Amino acid sequence: MTVVTRFAPSPTGFLHIGGARTALYNWLFARRHGGRFLLRIEDTDRARSSEAAVQAILDGLRWLGLTWDGDATSQWARATRHAAVVEDMLARGMAYRCYASQAELTAMREEQKASGQPMRYDGRWRDRDPSEAPAGIPPVIRLKAPQAGETVIADAVQGEVRVRNDQMDDLVLLRADGSPTYMLAVVVDDHDMGVTHVIRGDDHLTNAFRQTQIYRVMGWDTPAFAHVPLIHGPDGAKLSKRHGALGVEAYRDMGYVPEALRNYLLRLGWGHGNEEIIDTARAVELFTLEAIGRSAARFDFAKLENLNGHYLRATSDDRLTDLVLQRLAADASAPVPDVWRARVQAAMPSLKPRAKTLVELAENARFLVLSRPLPLTDKARSVLDGDGTAVLAALVDQLGRLATWDAPAIETEARRLAEARGVKLGQVAQPMRAALSGATVSPPIFEVATILGADETMGRLRDQLPAV
Ligand code: GLU
Repeated sequence: MTVVTRFAPSPTGFLHIGGARTALYNWLFARRHGGRFLLRIEDTDRARSSEAAVQAILDGLRWLGLTWDGDATSQWARATRHAAVVEDMLARGMAYRCYASQAELTAMREEQKASGQPMRYDGRWRDRDPSEAPAGIPPVIRLKAPQAGETVIADAVQGEVRVRNDQMDDLVLLRADGSPTYMLAVVVDDHDMGVTHVIRGDDHLTNAFRQTQIYRVMGWDTPAFAHVPLIHGPDGAKLSKRHGALGVEAYRDMGYVPEALRNYLLRLGWGHGNEEIIDTARAVELFTLEAIGRSAARFDFAKLENLNGHYLRATSDDRLTDLVLQRLAADASAPVPDVWRARVQAAMPSLKPRAKTLVELAENARFLVLSRPLPLTDKARSVLDGDGTAVLAALVDQLGRLATWDAPAIETEARRLAEARGVKLGQVAQPMRAALSGATVSPPIFEVATILGADETMGRLRDQLPAV
């Protein structure tokens, strides 16, 4: 059997973090078994679906590296097929037309409520002769669901779950306007697409019972189900925006790299012993549905940050330089000056161990590409108070006479100066750092001076000297 999984988002908003995790698990499971991972856009709710949301979902999946096989399917475009399946059920007596008006159904529910009964459709048209159909009322079509016995699902995550059939009513398959319901469309599409494993949020578990009834009536094989517990916030409450229920593009903007987010989402609900760092290649080898946890995972930004720091350190300097330059450029369409690239690339080995996100990395690299004179932080300014500018003046003088511009030579001059003034090296290095980086923390400052080159370094040092 070839494994076929699918991700079936409703395009009513961005690709949120829970959806991204569902997509990842489906993708991993398909890759692990050499199968296919399909994408179906569940756009039947025309009022709430939008093309912009479809694009946001596709972009989010691409950014995360979760490529799907073949073209994305539109559920809406398959409405004729959905209706044809219902025609077939009608012909076989497995579905029926229900002419109950809205007013009638409301009255029915109110009576049920008043007498303490569960509120569900009572099957009033199930066995009625169609000749009794009232004129001018377009019917809905309902499934003639089994009334005895149980519907049982062997869920790979939840275990065996069952419901008595007399607790489920005859669900609507086609609305009065002929449009298919979600419940019907999902089953027909999964069947036609050859989906073997349905992996999705456990908010769909109750739907799985009704969907199973449709499979049975059609005589189709049911797929294997895996209903994954939803993601909660660190406080155990349902995930909200405040907790991180954002679109994946928000994570991109916050400076996370896709490989870190994949590792994080993998671990958020799935485990392999205590291993925290599991890259995608290893995840493809290890992923099983059985190891998905049964309780809701809690979203934790600190863990995500740590993982991101790990993946940043493992990323090549070339790629990080590109990503940082994209963030530093004020105008994304203008070419990046060569000197920017050269400086950022040269500083990358010193910069990358100190950052957990690309935002932080870009902020730490920004001083390299600022135009003179540099703005100084308050702390940097206070370093230059008192003796600081006198140190810089002497430094300018000494460095100006250097024949070779490299870190050891610059350091030697700084040491010589510290000795001559009877101060510690730091009392030379800190004013130098303030002038060259505008701040009090930076990569090793002699290295910075080398990266900036003699002209830029001397310029930045002179900028901080009092005008004569
Ligand atoms: N379209 C549904 C959703 O976005 C998913 C349906 C399914 O996976 O079966 O929640």
